[in-house]
Amino acid sequence: MLRRRGLASLLLAFAMLPPPRAADAATTATLTAEGRGARLTVALAAGERWRIRALVRPNRLLIDFPGSRWRGPARTAGAGPVSVMRNSRGQLVLDLTGPVQVTRATGQPGQLVVEIAPGPAAAFNRAAAAKTVLAQGGGTAGLPLVVLDPGHGGRDPGAIGVKGTREKTIVLAAAQELRRQLEATGRCRVAMTRTGDRFIPLNDRVTFARRREAALFVSLHADSAPGARGASVYTLGDSTDAFSTALARRENDSDRAGGLRLPSVSPEVQAILLSLMRAETRAGSARMAEMVVQELGGQVPLLPNTHRQAGFVVLKAPEIPSVLVELGFLSHAQDEAALRRPDHRAKLARALSRAIGGWLARARTAEVLATG
Ligand code: ZN
Repeated sequence: MLRRRGLASLLLAFAMLPPPRAADAATTATLTAEGRGARLTVALAAGERWRIRALVRPNRLLIDFPGSRWRGPARTAGAGPVSVMRNSRGQLVLDLTGPVQVTRATGQPGQLVVEIAPGPAAAFNRAAAAKTVLAQGGGTAGLPLVVLDPGHGGRDPGAIGVKGTREKTIVLAAAQELRRQLEATGRCRVAMTRTGDRFIPLNDRVTFARRREAALFVSLHADSAPGARGASVYTLGDSTDAFSTALARRENDSDRAGGLRLPSVSPEVQAILLSLMRAETRAGSARMAEMVVQELGGQVPLLPNTHRQAGFVVLKAPEIPSVLVELGFLSHAQDEAALRRPDHRAKLARALSRAIGGWLARARTAEVLATG
């Protein structure tokens, strides 16, 4: 979401990160001396919780990972005020040469950074005696948000299959299954533009994602198109074929597109910000589309030229990479029969969950200051 900070405007950029380790718990830590203190960096799984406490006789810091275990080496050499770093029954223990204070402890998805410096003995002893948690974090709060957008709803049934299957029902069931699977990975938070049979205007779906500062927007559909079969994925762009144009027009006709919410800066600054953001967002959307095609391929039938571009209104958030997945076509008897089956929807959800997980692992939201 765009904000103004005085003259500085923020825009979102997506920076590449190395893929995370497969392990679901902390496994590596590095300790370096920093002046008279030390800095500890611990690799964390997304959403992993951590706590730091003080222990005395002898002086130690204990870092534990509720619900998980430290899997690092039994003993590692210390640095600064840390004599040894140990793995004690799944907890990370720093043996200290004297009392310390924690001067910084910041956890972000993927990494915990703790800085310590020599500190007063009285405060250290008090914290140990009271079992005070010196710092803690993690959990789902810092995780990126994925917005799932089941198409249609309420008075708008979407496509109606040859057997009378309604698109709005199928895509809601698919989104609920995908949400369940995504939440189980612990890699992201999930919000849905609708969780029931409710009509939501297209722009409200976009606004929903923007208000929540979503990292990714995934719209789910199962439309109707004569003769078409198989899954496909759309990103925003000029339609390159009449088929995609017609599909986008039908979707967009389900209500009228309004203007985007733009920051209150001068038109020139707005234009520059938007074009920068759109370029980043377009790259992120394309990367997501490629991952969806890769994961769905071999699992379910695909529409030829699986990644297509069209002017869908729900894909128009300038700062949120967005894709629209056509799970199949209800106008095709075999697609309709498959989409009615929970096991087929679960298979689609598994592929999409893998694509989203892979995308999140590579994309990191970074704030770039554009000073005014
Ligand atoms: Zn649709």
